Amino acid sequence: MPELPEVETVRRSLDAAVVGSRVTRVDIDRLRSVRRTGPDVVRAGLVGETFIGTRRRGKYLFFDLANGNSMMVHLRMSGRLLLAAPDSPREAHTHVVLRLERTGAASSELRFVDPRTFGEVVVFNPDDDLVPEVDRLGLDPLVDEFSFDQFHAAVGGRRRGLKAVLLDQSVIAGIGNIYADEIMHRARLRWDRRVDTLATARLKLLHRTTVEVLCEAVAAGGSTLSDTQYVDALGREGIFQTEHRVYAREGERCITCGRGIIRRVTGAGRSTHFCPVCQR
Ligand SMILES: [Zn+2]
Repeated sequence: MPELPEVETVRRSLDAAVVGSRVTRVDIDRLRSVRRTGPDVVRAGLVGETFIGTRRRGKYLFFDLANGNSMMVHLRMSGRLLLAAPDSPREAHTHVVLRLERTGAASSELRFVDPRTFGEVVVFNPDDDLVPEVDRLGLDPLVDEFSFDQFHAAVGGRRRGLKAVLLDQSVIAGIGNIYADEIMHRARLRWDRRVDTLATARLKLLHRTTVEVLCEAVAAGGSTLSDTQYVDALGREGIFQTEHRVYAREGERCITCGRGIIRRVTGAGRSTHFCPVCQR
């Protein structure tokens, strides 16, 4: 599933083509992708309108329109946003297509492709309560200030295991399974370590590694794994998977300590990868 670095990479890769473009046509051929409002609201909300900016919060992408409304896209498990020429063949599972026009440029299409159909496209007015989950999102490590004090206030003292806290979108927004495992490894902490037992020095290390891993992953264009189809809006794969030290490396020798063998444990429908030597 695309996490903060992948969603941010997608945003950056389409921003220049989308901002300043007017939507002249919307094709919807999968109702599930627009399930929150139905296709008429999405079409009526977009056609004739111009995008003035893109934003991201956690794993949510926003496309702001000149009339004050916004389009929200969540990629969920398998969603992709692709920029394409209107006459190029549409990929299988292309569910929503926006035709974009701008003066002095060839028209293009923004295509929402989603084989597993958990993803969503919503057009909303900020005054209505159509995307209430966005208000419940916690700190975004790239968008918000995310100082140690902010991090400490959000995370410190939680009486839960570290991984559960990192994955809780209402605490920190944007971290999923891959980056939680990589952050915990670099902070040398186990997934089940209760956060309220962490000394300040450990919390500082955790804060630093959170920022470090996410920033490095964004710079690398995210992670494209063998079992996922993540690419940015121009079809480019990420390369951060080559920097993973634990994720999807079970059975391999730990490259951090050179002694431990990476293990994978499952719990609550999630798998966690860690080095039993490095992480305590
Ligand atoms: Zn190790």
